[in-house]
Amino acid sequence: MHVTIFGYGSQGRAHALNLSESGWDITVVLRPESPSISIAKQDGVEVITDAISTACKTEICALLLPDLAQPELWREVLVTHLPTNSAILFAHGYAIHYGLITPRADLDIILAGPMCPGTELRNRYVARDSVPIVTAIQQDHSGHAAERLRAYVDGITGGRHDVIESTFAEETETDLFSEQALLCGGLGYLVQAVYELLVEAGYNPKLAHYTAMTEPVNLARLIAAHGVDGMLDRISHVARYGARTRGPRIIDTRVRQTLRTILAEIRSGSFQRELAEATKTQS
Ligand code: NDP
Ligand code: MG
Repeated sequence: MHVTIFGYGSQGRAHALNLSESGWDITVVLRPESPSISIAKQDGVEVITDAISTACKTEICALLLPDLAQPELWREVLVTHLPTNSAILFAHGYAIHYGLITPRADLDIILAGPMCPGTELRNRYVARDSVPIVTAIQQDHSGHAAERLRAYVDGITGGRHDVIESTFAEETETDLFSEQALLCGGLGYLVQAVYELLVEAGYNPKLAHYTAMTEPVNLARLIAAHGVDGMLDRISHVARYGARTRGPRIIDTRVRQTLRTILAEIRSGSFQRELAEATKTQS
């Protein structure tokens, strides 16, 4: 199978290398001045800079640019030049779900969203470990969308995956919520607050660093393997008592209400409009 990959960043590089080692024929397309060209070259990946002539011949086009850069490539190249019955593959549903791209009706629109950073997708492929992947089909014009999607998912994971069949809406909203509420926003700011408070209180910054920044990794592994109750069962009596009595004081009704509001902003589109406005003001 052949795929044209637009972008060679976190996901683009991992998809390109994994697909290639799974026997796919890949073409990577970048802007002529792109700093990613030299990275691709070091990896032994050939890069094309003529997006139009490449798009005209493609069967599957993996759009692995930043979400906010995808609409411009769609408007300037893909809307006119993609052949009928070709497929656009996304790794995140943002541009489609929020209507930044309104796809032509004669295309397949499919999603394979790895639930991990590109570096991890690559590492797991090399280590022959499984990866959770969210999949969705928004449009199936060719009648082969499911087959193409399955083949692509097998290609980026070497066939080692845990697929969650979903929709563009569900993948987009849950991904945004988890990065805002938990992974990057919630956890990131909690870790920072704990670190700052310990240092402010006069404790050794090195000790504070390990306490706040690296210990969570061990706990996250326990939670991934055994769930939150399973984690609580496996820690010391003192830690368990502290967690059960102090945890609910931190994650209190006010925090739960804030989480609800954050999810509502994502679902109503108000987060997307706010981001569009903020990005416009910056540029
Ligand atoms: P990156 O920011 O890592 O991608 C950057 C790549 O896109 C570079 O090759 C860059 O080339 C190119 N690029 C940037 N801006 C433009 C532009 N305006 N026009 C053309 N090319 C451009 O993206 P990610 O890999 O993080 O994200 C790609 C997709 O994957 C997104 O939909 C994202 O939501 C999704 N995703 C990302 C995950 C992650 O872990 N990062 C996880 C799961 C999904 P240049 O050298 O020219 O700047
Ligand atoms: Mg995301």
